[in-house]
Amino acid sequence: MPGSIRIGSIRGIPLFISPTWLIVFVLFLWSFAASYYPATYPGWTTQAYYAAGLITTVLFFASIIVHEVGHALIAERFGIHTRRITLLPIGGLAEIEREPEKPAQEFAVAIAGPLTSLLLGALFLGLSIALRPISVPFGGVTVYLGGANILLALFNLVPGFPMDGGRVLRAVVWGLTKSYTRGTRVAAGIGSLIAYGFIVVGIMLVFNGMIANGIILAFIGWFVLTSAQASVQQLTIQHELAGITVAQVMTREIPTVQVGETLTQVVNATFLAQNTRAAAVQLAGRFVGIVTLRDVMRTARDRWDWTDVEAVMVPETQLIVVHPDDPVLDAVERMGQGDVNQLPVVDDGHLVGVLSRSDVLRFMQRRASLRLPSAAGDDRTPPHAIARVPQ
Ligand SMILES: [Zn+2]
Repeated sequence: MPGSIRIGSIRGIPLFISPTWLIVFVLFLWSFAASYYPATYPGWTTQAYYAAGLITTVLFFASIIVHEVGHALIAERFGIHTRRITLLPIGGLAEIEREPEKPAQEFAVAIAGPLTSLLLGALFLGLSIALRPISVPFGGVTVYLGGANILLALFNLVPGFPMDGGRVLRAVVWGLTKSYTRGTRVAAGIGSLIAYGFIVVGIMLVFNGMIANGIILAFIGWFVLTSAQASVQQLTIQHELAGITVAQVMTREIPTVQVGETLTQVVNATFLAQNTRAAAVQLAGRFVGIVTLRDVMRTARDRWDWTDVEAVMVPETQLIVVHPDDPVLDAVERMGQGDVNQLPVVDDGHLVGVLSRSDVLRFMQRRASLRLPSAAGDDRTPPHAIARVPQ
Protein backbone atom coordinates (compact mmCIF):
# COMPACT_ATOMS: atom_id res chain seq x y z
CA MET A 1 0.00 0.00 0.00
CA PRO A 2 1.55 3.33 -0.95
CA GLY A 3 2.07 5.77 1.90
CA SER A 4 1.86 3.13 4.64
CA ILE A 5 3.63 3.89 7.89
CA ARG A 6 5.96 1.31 9.43
CA ILE A 7 5.20 0.86 13.12
CA GLY A 8 7.51 -2.02 14.01
CA SER A 9 7.98 -5.70 13.34
CA ILE A 10 6.93 -9.05 14.76
CA ARG A 11 9.30 -12.01 14.36
CA GLY A 12 11.08 -10.26 11.51
CA ILE A 13 7.85 -9.36 9.66
CA PRO A 14 7.52 -5.59 9.15
CA LEU A 15 4.25 -4.13 10.39
CA PHE A 16 2.60 -1.23 8.54
CA ILE A 17 -0.50 0.87 9.04
CA SER A 18 -2.29 2.65 6.23
CA PRO A 19 -2.84 6.38 6.94
CA THR A 20 -6.59 5.99 6.25
CA TRP A 21 -6.68 3.53 9.14
CA LEU A 22 -6.03 6.45 11.54
CA ILE A 23 -9.48 7.86 10.66
CA VAL A 24 -11.04 4.49 11.50
CA PHE A 25 -9.11 4.45 14.78
CA VAL A 26 -10.60 7.82 15.80
CA LEU A 27 -14.11 6.72 14.72
CA PHE A 28 -13.85 3.52 16.78
CA LEU A 29 -12.51 5.34 19.84
CA TRP A 30 -15.26 7.92 19.61
CA SER A 31 -18.07 5.40 19.14
CA PHE A 32 -16.85 3.32 22.13
CA ALA A 33 -16.31 6.29 24.45
CA ALA A 34 -19.35 8.36 23.49
CA SER A 35 -21.87 5.71 22.57
CA TYR A 36 -21.24 2.02 23.36
CA TYR A 37 -19.85 2.23 26.92
CA PRO A 38 -22.17 5.01 28.22
CA ALA A 39 -25.19 3.12 26.84
CA THR A 40 -24.08 -0.28 28.18
CA TYR A 41 -22.60 0.80 31.53
CA PRO A 42 -24.24 4.01 32.82
CA GLY A 43 -22.67 5.83 35.76
CA TRP A 44 -18.95 5.79 34.92
CA THR A 45 -16.95 9.02 34.76
CA THR A 46 -16.20 10.56 31.33
CA GLN A 47 -12.50 9.71 31.82
CA ALA A 48 -13.41 6.08 32.47
CA TYR A 49 -15.46 5.95 29.24
CA TYR A 50 -12.55 7.37 27.24
CA ALA A 51 -9.98 5.12 28.94
CA ALA A 52 -12.15 2.06 28.26
CA GLY A 53 -12.71 3.26 24.67
CA LEU A 54 -8.99 3.73 24.07
CA ILE A 55 -8.02 0.33 25.55
CA THR A 56 -10.76 -1.41 23.56
CA THR A 57 -9.75 0.27 20.29
CA VAL A 58 -6.03 -0.47 20.71
CA LEU A 59 -6.62 -4.09 21.75
CA PHE A 60 -9.19 -4.61 18.98
CA PHE A 61 -6.70 -3.61 16.30
CA ALA A 62 -3.94 -5.54 18.10
CA SER A 63 -6.26 -8.57 17.84
CA ILE A 64 -6.45 -8.10 14.05
CA ILE A 65 -2.63 -8.05 13.90
CA VAL A 66 -2.48 -11.22 16.01
CA HIS A 67 -4.91 -12.84 13.52
CA GLU A 68 -2.54 -11.96 10.65
CA VAL A 69 0.46 -13.21 12.63
CA GLY A 70 -1.44 -16.50 13.02
CA HIS A 71 -1.51 -16.82 9.20
CA ALA A 72 2.15 -15.77 8.93
CA LEU A 73 3.45 -18.28 11.50
CA ILE A 74 1.78 -21.24 9.79
CA ALA A 75 2.98 -20.02 6.37
CA GLU A 76 6.52 -19.85 7.81
CA ARG A 77 6.23 -23.52 8.83
CA PHE A 78 5.87 -24.35 5.12
CA GLY A 79 8.85 -22.17 4.23
CA ILE A 80 6.69 -19.30 2.92
CA HIS A 81 7.95 -15.95 4.13
CA THR A 82 5.55 -13.09 4.89
CA ARG A 83 6.77 -9.84 3.33
CA ARG A 84 4.71 -7.52 5.49
CA ILE A 85 1.53 -7.17 7.51
CA THR A 86 -0.55 -4.05 6.90
CA LEU A 87 -3.43 -2.76 8.99
CA LEU A 88 -6.09 -1.36 6.64
CA PRO A 89 -9.39 0.38 7.48
CA ILE A 90 -11.33 -2.82 6.68
CA GLY A 91 -8.96 -5.27 8.39
CA GLY A 92 -5.51 -6.74 8.09
CA LEU A 93 -3.46 -7.89 5.13
CA ALA A 94 -0.61 -10.39 5.29
CA GLU A 95 1.39 -10.39 2.07
CA ILE A 96 3.02 -13.78 1.64
CA GLU A 97 5.78 -14.24 -0.93
CA ARG A 98 4.08 -17.07 -2.81
CA GLU A 99 0.95 -19.20 -2.79
CA PRO A 100 1.15 -22.51 -0.86
CA GLU A 101 1.98 -25.38 -3.20
CA LYS A 102 -0.34 -27.99 -1.73
CA PRO A 103 -4.05 -27.83 -0.85
CA ALA A 104 -3.32 -28.98 2.71
CA GLN A 105 -0.86 -26.11 3.17
CA GLU A 106 -3.30 -23.51 1.86
CA PHE A 107 -5.99 -24.95 4.13
CA ALA A 108 -3.70 -24.68 7.18
CA VAL A 109 -2.51 -21.14 6.38
CA ALA A 110 -6.08 -19.92 5.74
CA ILE A 111 -7.66 -21.52 8.81
CA ALA A 112 -4.85 -20.33 11.13
CA GLY A 113 -6.20 -16.74 11.24
CA PRO A 114 -9.79 -17.54 12.29
CA LEU A 115 -8.52 -20.16 14.77
CA THR A 116 -6.19 -17.56 16.31
CA SER A 117 -9.13 -15.14 16.64
CA LEU A 118 -11.30 -17.84 18.24
CA LEU A 119 -8.57 -18.61 20.79
CA LEU A 120 -8.10 -14.91 21.48
CA GLY A 121 -11.86 -14.51 21.91
CA ALA A 122 -11.97 -17.37 24.41
CA LEU A 123 -9.01 -15.85 26.26
CA PHE A 124 -10.73 -12.44 26.58
CA LEU A 125 -14.01 -14.04 27.69
CA GLY A 126 -12.12 -16.04 30.32
CA LEU A 127 -10.40 -12.86 31.50
CA SER A 128 -13.73 -11.05 31.71
CA ILE A 129 -15.11 -13.72 34.05
CA ALA A 130 -12.04 -13.31 36.26
CA LEU A 131 -11.97 -9.49 36.11
CA ARG A 132 -15.64 -8.60 36.48
CA PRO A 133 -15.74 -9.08 40.29
CA ILE A 134 -12.61 -6.90 40.64
CA SER A 135 -13.35 -4.10 38.13
CA VAL A 136 -16.54 -3.51 36.15
CA PRO A 137 -14.78 -1.42 33.43
CA PHE A 138 -12.08 -4.08 32.82
CA GLY A 139 -14.79 -6.73 32.82
CA GLY A 140 -16.67 -4.65 30.22
CA VAL A 141 -13.63 -4.15 28.00
CA THR A 142 -12.65 -7.82 28.00
CA VAL A 143 -16.18 -9.10 27.40
CA TYR A 144 -16.46 -6.79 24.38
CA LEU A 145 -13.08 -7.93 22.99
CA GLY A 146 -14.02 -11.58 23.55
CA GLY A 147 -17.21 -11.17 21.52
CA ALA A 148 -15.48 -9.07 18.84
CA ASN A 149 -12.74 -11.67 18.26
CA ILE A 150 -15.26 -14.51 17.97
CA LEU A 151 -17.29 -12.43 15.47
CA LEU A 152 -14.06 -11.66 13.58
CA ALA A 153 -13.31 -15.39 13.34
CA LEU A 154 -16.84 -16.23 12.14
CA PHE A 155 -16.92 -13.35 9.65
CA ASN A 156 -13.58 -14.41 8.16
CA LEU A 157 -14.86 -17.95 7.78
CA VAL A 158 -17.60 -16.82 5.37
CA PRO A 159 -16.63 -18.77 2.23
CA GLY A 160 -16.12 -15.73 -0.01
CA PHE A 161 -12.76 -15.77 -1.76
CA PRO A 162 -10.38 -14.01 -1.06
CA MET A 163 -11.50 -14.06 2.58
CA ASP A 164 -10.11 -16.84 4.79
CA GLY A 165 -13.22 -18.99 4.40
CA GLY A 166 -12.93 -18.65 0.61
CA ARG A 167 -9.33 -19.85 0.77
CA VAL A 168 -10.39 -22.79 2.91
CA LEU A 169 -13.05 -23.58 0.29
CA ARG A 170 -10.50 -23.30 -2.53
CA ALA A 171 -8.13 -25.63 -0.70
CA VAL A 172 -10.94 -28.19 -0.29
CA VAL A 173 -12.06 -28.05 -3.96
CA TRP A 174 -8.40 -28.03 -5.09
CA GLY A 175 -7.68 -31.07 -2.89
CA LEU A 176 -10.76 -32.97 -4.12
CA THR A 177 -10.45 -32.20 -7.85
CA LYS A 178 -6.62 -31.94 -7.95
CA SER A 179 -7.17 -28.77 -10.01
CA TYR A 180 -5.94 -25.44 -8.72
CA THR A 181 -7.85 -23.60 -11.46
CA ARG A 182 -11.16 -25.25 -10.58
CA GLY A 183 -10.59 -24.54 -6.88
CA THR A 184 -10.01 -20.85 -7.61
CA ARG A 185 -12.99 -20.59 -9.97
CA VAL A 186 -15.41 -22.24 -7.54
CA ALA A 187 -14.18 -20.17 -4.58
CA ALA A 188 -14.24 -16.94 -6.59
CA GLY A 189 -17.72 -17.72 -7.95
CA ILE A 190 -19.16 -18.28 -4.48
CA GLY A 191 -17.15 -15.26 -3.28
CA SER A 192 -18.84 -13.06 -5.89
CA LEU A 193 -22.31 -14.28 -4.88
CA ILE A 194 -21.60 -13.59 -1.20
CA ALA A 195 -20.14 -10.20 -2.12
CA TYR A 196 -23.37 -9.23 -3.93
CA GLY A 197 -25.24 -10.38 -0.81
CA PHE A 198 -23.08 -8.11 1.39
CA ILE A 199 -23.70 -5.16 -0.92
CA VAL A 200 -27.49 -5.69 -0.97
CA VAL A 201 -27.72 -6.18 2.81
CA GLY A 202 -25.40 -3.18 3.31
CA ILE A 203 -27.67 -0.95 1.23
CA MET A 204 -30.73 -2.24 3.11
CA LEU A 205 -29.04 -1.41 6.43
CA VAL A 206 -28.31 2.12 5.20
CA PHE A 207 -31.99 2.63 4.34
CA ASN A 208 -32.97 1.29 7.76
CA GLY A 209 -30.87 3.88 9.56
CA MET A 210 -27.80 1.71 10.30
CA ILE A 211 -25.70 3.90 8.04
CA ALA A 212 -22.15 3.15 9.31
CA ASN A 213 -22.64 -0.64 9.50
CA GLY A 214 -24.37 -0.63 6.11
CA ILE A 215 -21.57 1.29 4.41
CA ILE A 216 -18.86 -0.93 5.95
CA LEU A 217 -20.67 -4.12 4.87
CA ALA A 218 -21.27 -2.84 1.32
CA PHE A 219 -17.64 -1.73 1.09
CA ILE A 220 -16.38 -5.16 2.18
CA GLY A 221 -18.73 -6.69 -0.42
CA TRP A 222 -17.28 -4.49 -3.11
CA PHE A 223 -13.73 -5.39 -1.99
CA VAL A 224 -14.46 -9.14 -2.07
CA LEU A 225 -16.14 -8.81 -5.47
CA THR A 226 -13.26 -6.97 -7.15
CA SER A 227 -10.65 -9.23 -5.54
CA ALA A 228 -12.50 -12.38 -6.63
CA GLN A 229 -12.78 -11.15 -10.22
CA ALA A 230 -9.16 -9.99 -10.29
CA SER A 231 -7.85 -13.33 -9.00
CA VAL A 232 -9.70 -15.29 -11.70
CA GLN A 233 -8.50 -12.88 -14.40
CA GLN A 234 -4.93 -13.10 -13.16
CA LEU A 235 -5.10 -16.88 -13.08
CA THR A 236 -6.42 -17.03 -16.66
CA ILE A 237 -3.61 -14.81 -17.89
CA GLN A 238 -0.99 -16.78 -15.96
CA HIS A 239 -2.22 -20.04 -17.46
CA GLU A 240 -2.47 -18.73 -21.00
CA LEU A 241 0.99 -17.23 -20.93
CA ALA A 242 2.91 -19.83 -18.93
CA GLY A 243 5.99 -21.01 -20.83
CA ILE A 244 5.64 -18.38 -23.57
CA THR A 245 8.66 -16.18 -24.32
CA VAL A 246 8.77 -12.55 -25.39
CA ALA A 247 10.07 -13.57 -28.85
CA GLN A 248 6.87 -15.57 -29.52
CA VAL A 249 4.60 -12.59 -28.90
CA MET A 250 6.55 -9.45 -29.83
CA THR A 251 6.16 -7.42 -33.01
CA ARG A 252 9.29 -7.74 -35.13
CA GLU A 253 8.66 -5.02 -37.68
CA ILE A 254 9.29 -1.88 -35.77
CA PRO A 255 8.47 1.47 -37.34
CA THR A 256 11.51 3.69 -37.07
CA VAL A 257 11.92 7.46 -37.18
CA GLN A 258 15.12 9.45 -37.36
CA VAL A 259 16.43 12.10 -34.99
CA GLY A 260 15.75 15.38 -36.79
CA GLU A 261 12.15 14.52 -37.79
CA THR A 262 9.50 16.86 -36.39
CA LEU A 263 6.48 15.61 -34.44
CA THR A 264 4.22 16.46 -37.41
CA GLN A 265 6.35 14.22 -39.64
CA VAL A 266 6.37 11.44 -37.06
CA VAL A 267 2.58 11.57 -36.62
CA ASN A 268 1.74 11.75 -40.35
CA ALA A 269 4.41 9.53 -41.89
CA THR A 270 4.63 6.94 -39.13
CA PHE A 271 1.87 6.86 -36.49
CA LEU A 272 -1.02 7.50 -38.92
CA ALA A 273 0.47 5.99 -42.09
CA GLN A 274 1.59 2.77 -40.39
CA ASN A 275 -1.23 2.59 -37.83
CA THR A 276 1.10 2.42 -34.82
CA ARG A 277 1.34 4.06 -31.43
CA ALA A 278 5.09 3.75 -30.97
CA ALA A 279 8.30 3.96 -32.99
CA ALA A 280 11.99 3.40 -32.41
CA VAL A 281 14.13 6.50 -32.77
CA GLN A 282 17.42 6.08 -34.64
CA LEU A 283 20.46 8.27 -34.99
CA ALA A 284 22.88 7.23 -37.74
CA GLY A 285 21.49 3.68 -37.73
CA ARG A 286 21.78 3.32 -33.95
CA PHE A 287 18.79 2.81 -31.59
CA VAL A 288 18.60 5.82 -29.26
CA GLY A 289 15.06 5.78 -27.83
CA ILE A 290 11.35 5.15 -28.18
CA VAL A 291 8.66 7.66 -29.03
CA THR A 292 4.99 6.93 -28.38
CA LEU A 293 1.74 8.69 -29.14
CA ARG A 294 1.55 9.53 -25.46
CA ASP A 295 4.96 11.30 -25.60
CA VAL A 296 3.81 13.34 -28.60
CA MET A 297 0.46 14.29 -27.06
CA ARG A 298 2.29 15.95 -24.16
CA THR A 299 3.41 18.68 -26.59
CA ALA A 300 0.87 21.30 -27.68
CA ARG A 301 -0.29 20.68 -31.27
CA ASP A 302 0.78 24.10 -32.54
CA ARG A 303 4.38 23.25 -31.64
CA TRP A 304 4.50 19.93 -33.54
CA ASP A 305 5.84 21.60 -36.71
CA TRP A 306 9.05 22.66 -35.08
CA THR A 307 9.62 20.20 -32.21
CA ASP A 308 12.24 17.51 -32.85
CA VAL A 309 11.27 13.94 -31.95
CA GLU A 310 14.47 13.74 -29.87
CA ALA A 311 12.98 16.29 -27.47
CA VAL A 312 9.96 14.15 -26.52
CA MET A 313 11.26 10.56 -26.88
CA VAL A 314 12.22 8.39 -23.91
CA PRO A 315 15.99 7.88 -24.30
CA GLU A 316 17.32 4.31 -24.39
CA THR A 317 19.06 4.79 -21.02
CA GLN A 318 15.71 5.38 -19.26
CA LEU A 319 13.86 2.48 -20.87
CA ILE A 320 12.88 -0.79 -19.25
CA VAL A 321 14.03 -3.36 -21.81
CA VAL A 322 13.41 -7.10 -22.07
CA HIS A 323 15.29 -9.94 -23.74
CA PRO A 324 13.61 -12.11 -26.42
CA ASP A 325 14.05 -15.20 -24.22
CA ASP A 326 12.41 -13.61 -21.14
CA PRO A 327 9.08 -15.14 -20.05
CA VAL A 328 6.29 -12.97 -21.38
CA LEU A 329 4.61 -13.04 -17.94
CA ASP A 330 7.64 -11.27 -16.42
CA ALA A 331 7.50 -8.69 -19.22
CA VAL A 332 3.80 -8.01 -18.58
CA GLU A 333 4.54 -7.56 -14.89
CA ARG A 334 7.34 -5.11 -15.70
CA MET A 335 4.95 -3.13 -17.93
CA GLY A 336 2.63 -2.85 -14.97
CA GLN A 337 5.38 -1.75 -12.61
CA GLY A 338 6.71 0.83 -15.07
CA ASP A 339 3.19 1.93 -16.12
CA VAL A 340 4.06 1.61 -19.82
CA ASN A 341 2.17 -0.02 -22.68
CA GLN A 342 5.16 -1.38 -24.59
CA LEU A 343 8.69 -2.55 -23.95
CA PRO A 344 11.60 -2.56 -26.39
CA VAL A 345 13.06 -6.02 -26.87
CA VAL A 346 16.83 -5.77 -26.96
CA ASP A 347 19.28 -8.56 -27.74
CA ASP A 348 22.99 -7.88 -27.45
CA GLY A 349 22.50 -4.14 -27.75
CA HIS A 350 20.27 -4.39 -30.85
CA LEU A 351 16.58 -3.61 -30.94
CA VAL A 352 14.92 -6.77 -32.27
CA GLY A 353 11.28 -6.02 -31.55
CA VAL A 354 8.69 -4.32 -29.39
CA LEU A 355 6.33 -6.06 -26.99
CA SER A 356 3.07 -4.18 -26.39
CA ARG A 357 0.01 -4.92 -24.31
CA SER A 358 -1.98 -5.29 -27.53
CA ASP A 359 0.53 -7.91 -28.77
CA VAL A 360 -0.15 -9.93 -25.61
CA LEU A 361 -3.92 -9.49 -25.96
CA ARG A 362 -3.87 -10.50 -29.65
CA PHE A 363 -1.75 -13.53 -28.79
CA MET A 364 -4.25 -14.65 -26.16
CA GLN A 365 -7.24 -14.02 -28.45
CA ARG A 366 -5.61 -16.00 -31.27
CA ARG A 367 -4.93 -18.95 -28.98
CA ALA A 368 -8.47 -18.78 -27.63
CA SER A 369 -10.01 -18.72 -31.13
CA LEU A 370 -7.86 -21.70 -32.16
CA ARG A 371 -8.88 -23.41 -28.90
CA LEU A 372 -5.25 -24.23 -28.14
CA PRO A 373 -4.64 -25.67 -24.70
CA SER A 374 -2.47 -23.49 -22.47
CA ALA A 375 1.16 -24.47 -22.08
CA ALA A 376 0.67 -24.80 -18.33
CA GLY A 377 0.18 -28.56 -18.20
CA ASP A 378 0.39 -29.01 -14.45
CA ASP A 379 -2.74 -27.66 -12.84
CA ARG A 380 -2.01 -29.36 -9.52
CA THR A 381 0.07 -26.43 -8.28
CA PRO A 382 -0.49 -22.68 -8.52
CA PRO A 383 1.29 -20.90 -11.40
CA HIS A 384 4.58 -19.38 -10.29
CA ALA A 385 4.15 -15.67 -9.94
CA ILE A 386 4.33 -13.07 -7.27
CA ALA A 387 1.22 -13.34 -5.14
CA ARG A 388 -0.38 -10.52 -3.20
CA VAL A 389 -2.54 -12.38 -0.80
CA PRO A 390 -5.16 -10.50 1.17
CA GLN A 391 -6.07 -12.49 4.26
ZN1 LIG B 1 -7.41 -13.98 8.01
